Amino acid sequence: MTNIIKIGNTAIGGDNPILIQSMTNVDTADIDAVVAQINELERAGCEIIRASVYDKECALALSKIKERINIPLVADIHFDYKLAIASIENGADKIRINPGNIGSDDRVEKVVDCAKSHNVPIRVGVNSGSLPKDLQDEYGNSPKAMVLAAIRHVELLEKFGFYNIVVSLKSSSVLKTIDSCIEFSKVSDYPQHIGVTEAGSSRQGFINAAIGIGSLLHKGIGDTIRVSISGDPVQEVYAAWDILNALHLRHRGINVVSCPTCARKGIDVEKLAERIKHKYINETRFLKVAVMGCVVNGPGESKDADIGIAAGKDYSVIFTQGEKQMKVDNTKAFDILCEEIDKLLES
Ligand code: SF4
Repeated sequence: MTNIIKIGNTAIGGDNPILIQSMTNVDTADIDAVVAQINELERAGCEIIRASVYDKECALALSKIKERINIPLVADIHFDYKLAIASIENGADKIRINPGNIGSDDRVEKVVDCAKSHNVPIRVGVNSGSLPKDLQDEYGNSPKAMVLAAIRHVELLEKFGFYNIVVSLKSSSVLKTIDSCIEFSKVSDYPQHIGVTEAGSSRQGFINAAIGIGSLLHKGIGDTIRVSISGDPVQEVYAAWDILNALHLRHRGINVVSCPTCARKGIDVEKLAERIKHKYINETRFLKVAVMGCVVNGPGESKDADIGIAAGKDYSVIFTQGEKQMKVDNTKAFDILCEEIDKLLES
C-alpha cells in the first residue's frame, strides 16, 4: 500500500481512487487559453492538471489560473529552483521537478523548505532521457539506472526532512517503463504517477500508453496516470478512462462495445457506435452499450451489456441484458436507442 499524499483538495495513494492527469499544451502565461483548456479537460474527466512553468510570467499566472479552475494544478519545473519556489508561492498544488537538474543541494533545500511551509508535495520525475551520467555509465539506460536515480532524488529530499513525495519513472520504451515502476514499487511506498512518456501520436501513442499503464495498474501499481500523446490532451483523458474502465478499476461514461461486423451485418455498425460515443462523450454515469450487426448472434455475443441493439436488414432489435425488448425501424434506431439509454441513466 502506498503512502497517502494530499494534492490540493484531493488525495492519492493508499486506497484512494487512481486519478487521471493531463497536461496543458497552450502557453501557461496565456491565462484565458489555459483556463479554457483546463475546463474542457475537467469536463472530459481530468482530475489533476499539470502546466509547464518555464519563466516568471508563467509562475505568476498560476494564481490567476487557480481562481478559475476546480482541479489541482501542478507546476512542471526544470532547471530553475526559483521558478519552483515562485510556483508554490503562487498556489501550485504540487510541483514536479527532477532534483538532479535543479542545481546544488542548497537550492533543492530552499525548494523543500518552501514546499514544506505550504504543505505542497513534490513529484520526483525521473525520465530515461535525462538520467544522471554516473548511473548511465555504470548501468546503461536501464530500469536499474532509472530506479537508482529515483532513489537518489528521493533520498536528497528526505535528507531535508521532506516526505511529501510522489515519484514517476517514465521512458518512451514501454518495457523499460513497466520494469522500472515494478522495481521501484518493491523498494518504496511513495505513490507513483505512471505513464509512458513520448508514447507517440494517435494509434501508436494510445497502444503504448494502454500497454504500459494497463500492465502496471493490473499489478496494482500506479496512483495517478497520464496517457501522453502528441495531440489534443482531451483525447488523453478519454483514453485514460478507457484504460480504467477496461480494467474495472473505475467506471465512467458510456462504454460502447460493438461487433467487428461480417457479411451478416444489417447496419453500419461503426457509424452507429461512433454516433452514440459522440452524443455521450462527457457523460459521467457508467453504462455498457452493445452495437451488434445482426440479430442472429448479436444478443448472445453481448450478454453483459446493459443495453444493446442487434440489427436486421430493415429492422433492429433493442435488448437489455441479452433479452429482447422491442423491434425498431432501422431509420429510427439511433433515436430510440438513445431514448432507452437516457431512461436507463435516469433509473
Ligand atoms: Fe457478424 Fe452478427 Fe457477429 Fe456482428 S454480431 S460479427 S454481424 S455475426
